[in-house]
Amino acid sequence: MGEIRVVDVPILIVGAGGSGLAASNFLADLGIESLLIERHASTSILPKAHGINQRTMEIFRHHGLADRVYAESAPRENMGKCIWLTSLGGNGPMDRKCSSRPTSWAAADRPHSKI
Ligand SMILES: Cc1cc2nc3c(=O)[nH]c(=O)nc-3n(C[C@H](O)[C@H](O)[C@H](O)COP(=O)(O)OP(=O)(O)OC[C@H]3O[C@@H](n4cnc5c(N)ncnc54)[C@H](O)[C@@H]3O)c2cc1C
Repeated sequence: MGEIRVVDVPILIVGAGGSGLAASNFLADLGIESLLIERHASTSILPKAHGINQRTMEIFRHHGLADRVYAESAPRENMGKCIWLTSLGGNGPMDRKCSSRPTSWAAADRPHSKI
């Protein structure tokens, strides 16, 4: 059994997903001390926020984070196509059927506007 260390903080944030990271940043902006803990060594290796809501970007801008999000975001060219398929593989009668090819939210031919 390892040594137990007691840490006294006003706010403990458990989980460094979007909610925890945002809370940590916003509290720091307000000058409120917090400790953020995460059970994994790093952030998610899979994309979990392809699109970010306008209101979220407004809040990020308010906290001086918007430009960093834009800088790290995927190029629009990578987000311009969307396709709905019944499956990606298989040779059954209902496999690999396309039901829709909607224009996706970041279609490359649309004008780009930053919030
Ligand atoms: C494939 C995919 C695509 C998505 N695309 C979008 C999108 O385009 N736009 C969008 O807005 N949303 C999208 N989402 C949803 C979005 O990712 C979630 O709503 C968001 O991640 C939730 O954030 P969260 O911080 O609440 O939880 P999570 O992101 O799940 O974070 C929770 C964190 O807490 C940690 N944790 C849990 N228990 C403990 C513990 N006991 N101790 C320490 N750490 C712990 C976990 O390891 C994790 O890192 C997508 C989700 C997926 C899976």
